[in-house]
Amino acid sequence: MPQNLLIKPVSGDEISAFIRTHAPWAEGEASASFSGGREAANKRLKHLDPLAYGRSRNHLDGAVTQLSPYIRHGVISPNTVRNAVLDNFSKLKSERFLQQLAWRDYWQCLYMQNPDWIWNSVEAYKTGFTENDYADDLPSDIKNGKTGVAVIDHLIATLVKTGWLHNHARLYLSSYICHWRRIKWQAGARWMMTHLLDGDPASNNLSWQWVASTFANKPYYFNLDNVRKYSGDSLDTTTDNNVELSGSYEELHNRLFPNLEPR
Ligand SMILES: Cc1cc2nc3c(=O)[nH]c(=O)nc-3n(C[C@H](O)[C@H](O)[C@H](O)COP(=O)(O)OP(=O)(O)OC[C@H]3O[C@@H](n4cnc5c(N)ncnc54)[C@H](O)[C@@H]3O)c2cc1C
Repeated sequence: MPQNLLIKPVSGDEISAFIRTHAPWAEGEASASFSGGREAANKRLKHLDPLAYGRSRNHLDGAVTQLSPYIRHGVISPNTVRNAVLDNFSKLKSERFLQQLAWRDYWQCLYMQNPDWIWNSVEAYKTGFTENDYADDLPSDIKNGKTGVAVIDHLIATLVKTGWLHNHARLYLSSYICHWRRIKWQAGARWMMTHLLDGDPASNNLSWQWVASTFANKPYYFNLDNVRKYSGDSLDTTTDNNVELSGSYEELHNRLFPNLEPR
């Protein structure tokens, strides 16, 4: 590896050029959205505004930190992040942010105690379907971001290009795969993890199980109005281009889970 890639933060373009030279068969581009190193992580941490975070974290353009790749790879520890936040802000102001860090810890603890939960359903699906009703593999239209559902294709393109998705976007995408397409959560989790810079078996797979309902009391699903509320103008949320996602929660419940009691 050339010295300049080792000793200073480099851009996605520089990394892509390096990879193209040494592995010409590799596809895609390196992410230009994240540069490596502790300095970059500290910079993101410094920009954290816990009050704005609490108000906006569910919005796709909300004041989230994008610290997950750094935490995942040990560039900065969750404890350092927590202490830095508490050094600068009151517990009350920091609460929503610290809760999210705690989720990460919770998934990690579950993983350590139950390593077999990572690839096996913890419980049965609560969707009115059994494991056998779900497809084993991800079809190519999803892998290629060509499902024909504008919101979903946009999220897939963002995931593949940047290696990161907002939490709400991950929820939408995983729910679409499990419930609209009736594909096993394991197939979706495996695919998403190959693209995520923060890909982590505990946070990823247990979140997928929560969406699928194999580690929750009910399936997570959403509708187009919810996407409109949280995406602002950043996505094409026209009904014509997202027919499958449109409808009330009652309509979608009955459409997606016909074997359950109607809502
Ligand atoms: C289907 C699905 C897959 C996911 N896969 C991963 C994964 O592979 N790796 C991963 O780190 N997170 C995963 N998450 C959790 C969450 O989406 C990301 O941690 C978060 O979006 C990262 O963005 P951020 O750093 O801006 O988070 P912020 O909102 O700024 O939160 C700060 C830190 O808290 C932790 N955190 C925040 N929300 C969560 C959460 N819901 N669960 C666990 N930790 C959280 C992360 O370490 C994050 O960096 C997944 C969530 C879902 C629904």
